[in-house]
Amino acid sequence: MRDTKPQLQAIPFPAIRRRRLDTLQVNLGYRCNQSCVHCHVNAGPNRTEEMDGATIDIVLAFLARRRIATLDITGGAPELNRHFRGLVNAAREMGVRVMDRCNLTILEVAGQEDLAEFLAAQQVEIVASMPCYLLENVDRQRGSGVFESSIRGLKRLNALGYGRDETGLVLNLVYNPQGPSLPPAQGQLEADYKRVLGETYDVVFNNLFTLANMPIQRFGAILMSKGQFDDYLALLRAAHRDENLDGVMCRSLISVDYRGYVYDCDFNQMLDLPLERRGRKRVHLADLADEEIAGNPVRVAGHCFGCTAGQGSSCGGALEAAE
Ligand code: SF4
Ligand code: SF4
Repeated sequence: MRDTKPQLQAIPFPAIRRRRLDTLQVNLGYRCNQSCVHCHVNAGPNRTEEMDGATIDIVLAFLARRRIATLDITGGAPELNRHFRGLVNAAREMGVRVMDRCNLTILEVAGQEDLAEFLAAQQVEIVASMPCYLLENVDRQRGSGVFESSIRGLKRLNALGYGRDETGLVLNLVYNPQGPSLPPAQGQLEADYKRVLGETYDVVFNNLFTLANMPIQRFGAILMSKGQFDDYLALLRAAHRDENLDGVMCRSLISVDYRGYVYDCDFNQMLDLPLERRGRKRVHLADLADEEIAGNPVRVAGHCFGCTAGQGSSCGGALEAAE
């Protein structure tokens, strides 16, 4: 697979500095029950890398010491890590808001039969990928049978109260384009999703987040192999809006890999661009327990235009400044 990192690092991007940290995003490993075309972590069933119990303890100690408001758990399919439920339980006991980046099909995997009930009992917010409301498009991007399994997962979550404002059980969906184009307007697309999923499948959810595809990992390699990499970068750069720089997620979030090393965001983690701090080659989460990183420069490169193009993209979808 061709690596887009050298090309991306040659592209200049405006300087960004960090603000106060409010979200810890933790990657529990690369194992996943799916292997989606656009997966920016190259996750799949055969990946074995995963966070161990000692590193989970460092995560929990960090949450407590730094009074972090939000724990954002990702993977792979993070629920496959045997420490997942212990991490969620302990974080919720501290009063931390917990988000699970759930692929929905995991709810049907053997051994995960009670996962939906567990997430509801712990009031975990679910962020689920649903790149289209049409079966053919989802199955092409995420694999055969994924759409119907996802719909069954959404129905199960709805039955537990997820996706209804009055329950407080939050179910947000994530859309990303099928190919090298910018996402459509988030508000309109959310209305379309709510109408089609509601009328056709009787499914409800809270918000739709639209994200641009990042020109890294599997998607970046596909762009390279089709000769579309330069055009896609040109599209992102032409759509860049300075006002989006204010809301990019790397200002208030750090991303932690399965070994406990820290990055400015998940995308930098996948490009292996570690957080830069006092000349250290890599910074471990354990080393940041007593360090204030507000003001630290963010490691930026060409892929960052994926966050600032058009309406902008962050882990919460389009950026408010541009909506
Ligand atoms: S479900 Fe998510 S983590 Fe798993 S392969 Fe697909 S995009 Fe990657
Ligand atoms: S890709 Fe990461 S570092 Fe670059 S702007 Fe987006 S969140 Fe920040």
